[in-house]
Amino acid sequence: MIKAKKKFGQNFLKDESILQKIIQAMPNDNTMVVEIGPGLGDLTEKLLQRCERVTAFEIDLELCNYLKDKFSDELGQKRLELVCDDILEQWGETSLYSEKYNLIANLPYYIATNLILKALDDKKCQSIIVMVQKEVAVKFSSTVGDKTYSGLSILADSISEAELLFDVGAECFDPPPKVTSAVLKLTKFKNYEDLFESQKDLDQFKSFLKAAFAAPRKVLIKNLGQIVQKEELIREFENLEIPVNFRPHQLSSEKYHLLFKNLK
Ligand code: SAM
Repeated sequence: MIKAKKKFGQNFLKDESILQKIIQAMPNDNTMVVEIGPGLGDLTEKLLQRCERVTAFEIDLELCNYLKDKFSDELGQKRLELVCDDILEQWGETSLYSEKYNLIANLPYYIATNLILKALDDKKCQSIIVMVQKEVAVKFSSTVGDKTYSGLSILADSISEAELLFDVGAECFDPPPKVTSAVLKLTKFKNYEDLFESQKDLDQFKSFLKAAFAAPRKVLIKNLGQIVQKEELIREFENLEIPVNFRPHQLSSEKYHLLFKNLK
């Protein structure tokens, strides 16, 4: 019996109906699948029933040995590739994989936000279906006006169609986590790369959002005052008809892009 290790964020998904719901949410294409943290392989098994090829990254060597045994046929047929390493070591600054892929995973929660941001940045990644802490799923899928609308929501909304598919209770896992979980789906737009001139442009937009939401309860114009001249801000707010008393969560993603472009 393999014991779950806290340090690797191991909470194994045991609920058959939730596993089925994740598989049903997958895009209907032949794109290969990347799974981060296959654990005991319950989701991997379902993925292999549905897809031609899966590449899985697992940090825990004990689990890796277990998976090599469990999936010896699929590994032999090269339908499954198992990379026994830390995903963060593998990902670096470039694409995680050499060809287009869909990311489907029950993510280790301690690095979930970081991994979603990397997948959003990765041009080979076409879509993301991930189980995460509900709070994280909400942050990425909130819409303008929601109190939880944040820089992460705007980024996700600019690059993809973002949906919180369903909640998953702690009782569906072994051992149960202390939080409620949710499945988040981000389907990248075909032409999203046109939105940014370069990686530098995207990085600058991220810094702009960070400044905009630095103090979420303060008015937006005050937050942006930390990085842009006040007179310039007043002029652009007037130009784009943005009320000066707007708080960061009240401005739409489209207006954030216009404001960023005009202030550059
Ligand atoms: N997919 C399995 C499931 O649904 O039952 C396990 C999910 S569990 C929440 C997270 C998995 O990610 C564990 O197998 C853990 O060992 C693995 N993991 C944690 N940190 C990792 C890292 N840095 N790189 C790769 N795998 C990691």
